[in-house]
Amino acid sequence: MRIVGCYAQTELGHGSNVAGLETTATLDLDTDEFVIHCPNIEATKYWPGDMGMSANSAVVYANLMIKNKSFGVQPFFVPLRDFETHKNLPGITSGDIGPKIGFESKENSWLILEKVRVPRENMLMKYAKVDREGNFRIEGDLRVLYSIMMQTRVFISAMASHDLASCLTIAVRYATVRRQFATLPDKLKSERRLIDYQTHQFKLLPPLAMAYANNFAIAYMKKEIATLMESIKAKDFHSLPLLHHLTSTFKSVLTWDSLLHCEHIRQSCGGAGFLRSAGFHNILQNNYANPTHEGENTVMAHQGAKFIYNQLHAALNHSQVHPIFDYLLKYEQNKKTVSSLKTKTDFLNPDNLLACLGLNAGIHVFSLGQKMTSSKASPLEKENDLFGQEQVRMVINHASYIIFKLFKDGIELQNFSQNTKNQLYSLLVLYGHGCLKKDGIFLFDGGYLK
Ligand SMILES: Cc1cc2nc3c(=O)[nH]c(=O)nc-3n(C[C@H](O)[C@H](O)[C@H](O)COP(=O)(O)OP(=O)(O)OC[C@H]3O[C@@H](n4cnc5c(N)ncnc54)[C@H](O)[C@@H]3O)c2cc1C
Repeated sequence: MRIVGCYAQTELGHGSNVAGLETTATLDLDTDEFVIHCPNIEATKYWPGDMGMSANSAVVYANLMIKNKSFGVQPFFVPLRDFETHKNLPGITSGDIGPKIGFESKENSWLILEKVRVPRENMLMKYAKVDREGNFRIEGDLRVLYSIMMQTRVFISAMASHDLASCLTIAVRYATVRRQFATLPDKLKSERRLIDYQTHQFKLLPPLAMAYANNFAIAYMKKEIATLMESIKAKDFHSLPLLHHLTSTFKSVLTWDSLLHCEHIRQSCGGAGFLRSAGFHNILQNNYANPTHEGENTVMAHQGAKFIYNQLHAALNHSQVHPIFDYLLKYEQNKKTVSSLKTKTDFLNPDNLLACLGLNAGIHVFSLGQKMTSSKASPLEKENDLFGQEQVRMVINHASYIIFKLFKDGIELQNFSQNTKNQLYSLLVLYGHGCLKKDGIFLFDGGYLK
């Protein structure tokens, strides 16, 4: 293993704003080389994992400059250390950024490149090319670069959900054997198991339902990503926007939920949950980074919103929408269904809950869409000053509907035994109620639910 690589995109001054990166890669036509340079302290590469000690090379994201013209941020392969001595090469200064809250196995680093020269071929040129004369051209579709990030986001969402399931396994097992207080009406005066307290069920069962729901959502995303990668090979990019939407939306919602619940679940074990031997410590530490890396969650939620507006526009114009956005088309019909729900049986019915969540998501989307359209503010003001928070809320409610639907479809379509199906349906209903409890207020305010 000669080349140990790392990924150097983020800078001290710019993380989420990738277009704002300041490191430059300037083509020197005389020598047929790129000169990679961090022009100021803000352009210091910050965070590359494994760069602190192990990596000897990096893929550096830098602004491509040819004849004083910028061609946007592009990736460059840059050797950083001598392969024999492991000492920094000329023009490279680097160091570890120090201890973090988690992810301790990764040495994240800082890296300054000062006029570091690499051959022109070191630009990763599969989709964007620069020739000997300095001509830049795009071959294929640059959006394909997102496909790697999309896969990583699915991986992170899957990890977060797995961590949630691990915490639940620990806590549910503990709650079935741990007893506190003789609150049972039996003569032996035995103490009650934690799991038999209503409060404890409220702590563990909604996240349990969520862990199952998330698993179905992730299985769907994995399948869709695999299909997308196959179609990309055939130069068919049409499902990229949808998958970009799904992966950014799910990444933010699933990692936020997982982190929040893992901590609550840890608390459900009392003092035992605070012991390292319980195992929560590693799981929580790993989860801390999930809302931040590979696309910061708020920024991801905002990205997710863009495709919702696209589909809203299509629905309003009676054009085709993707099947998972069917709730936008069923908006009127759902209003009627939800308004007629009265009894407990009504609310245990998955179809009715799907209608509730669809209407709830629809209200958020239509109402924000309407505010965005009627506001006289600039697009930047709308997104950043006026409706940023509502946009995140809309995305979360939209995600609740899709995840519920994927969970429901998954139970119906897969070959489970009837007993398993019954258990899964209970979890599905619980998941649906959890979503409505989290943010179903519009259904009450609008008078649809009483
Ligand atoms: C464990 C870990 C490993 C990492 N590994 C790597 C790596 O290997 N290589 C690499 O290049 N990078 C890596 N990173 C960096 C990571 O990609 C960035 O931390 C991430 O992109 C966020 O950027 P930032 O830290 O500058 O935060 P910022 O972008 O400054 O965000 C800070 C806060 O501002 C908010 N904010 C930012 N923009 C907006 C907006 N438009 N609207 C509303 N709110 C906004 C965010 O929601 C957040 O709350 C790693 C980070 C971590 C934590």
